[in-house]
Amino acid sequence: MSGDRTPRQVSLARLVEFGIVPKRSLGQNFLVDDNIIRVILQRLAPLPEDVAIEVGAGLGILTRALAQAVGRVHAFEIDRSLAPALEVTLADPEVAERVLLQYGDIMKVSLESLDPLPTLCASNLPYSVAAPFLGEALERLPSVRRYCLMMQREVAERLAAPSGGKDYGSLSVWVRLHTRIVEVRALSRTIFHPQPNVDSSLVTLERAPIDPLVIERPILLRAVVEGAFSQRRKLAVNALAAALDVPKESLGEVFRLAGVSPQVRAEAVEPPGFVALARGLMELGLDDRYNEARGRSGRTGSSRR
Ligand code: SAM
Repeated sequence: MSGDRTPRQVSLARLVEFGIVPKRSLGQNFLVDDNIIRVILQRLAPLPEDVAIEVGAGLGILTRALAQAVGRVHAFEIDRSLAPALEVTLADPEVAERVLLQYGDIMKVSLESLDPLPTLCASNLPYSVAAPFLGEALERLPSVRRYCLMMQREVAERLAAPSGGKDYGSLSVWVRLHTRIVEVRALSRTIFHPQPNVDSSLVTLERAPIDPLVIERPILLRAVVEGAFSQRRKLAVNALAAALDVPKESLGEVFRLAGVSPQVRAEAVEPPGFVALARGLMELGLDDRYNEARGRSGRTGSSRR
């Protein structure tokens, strides 16, 4: 605290100045540790010409740091009542001119229409949207080369889970089909105010070379991945037959073409196996229903936070 009893840390100062009571329902656990901002920037390795996207600007501590490091920041915040405090944090003209701030729900934003397109993504993600936002961003923002995201540790574990275990699921496959996991780092609860009831991790992802089918047929791919995991206790061939409403015999042929054993559950199928299954469906002409124009219907990974 300084002499006037205003805390020096930006988030704490804004909370006091504006009498803000954080809303747990919106995942408002504000960052109150400046070191983690330095870690995020170091992991992101931003260039002055980069364009960042941040979900949940909150009181603006990360938004401001990003704006000082890159050319533009798309910042989204659902809670308009934070606007007076957020705008004070972003008031420096050099920061303000670089921040494109929008109030609204990130899950309703047409990510592919952002202009300029983001090249980096950094967020202290609101827990309810961590997995669904990442699923959408990986598909819709191929321009993003690095992600540095704070999220519930349980979601981070699912995202990074190797095949064969109970945590391996559609989110793990989707992440692996688009990125390389650079680092998953545990975070202390004390860096947030208020302290959350669950642990968090900082996850760094780097865009990796992607199979062209993942880009050309994302809806088909999602249907295959989510369908295979829709009934985890069943063999993947049976779960997929039910989810895609395709006769089991035809799916047996798809598995044969894909080189995936029909005797395994989805958790034993590596990410490229799902791409091969999608190709098999295409070869047998069973992919028509998943040919529709890109919509917002698909979601990979739900949040349990
Ligand atoms: N970035 C700030 C920080 O690190 O201190 C705030 C992070 S806080 C964990 C998450 C923020 O996301 C909150 O300010 C919350 O209001 C906002 N939020 C929650 N749901 C959102 C949504 N669907 N779209 C956009 N922002 C959302």
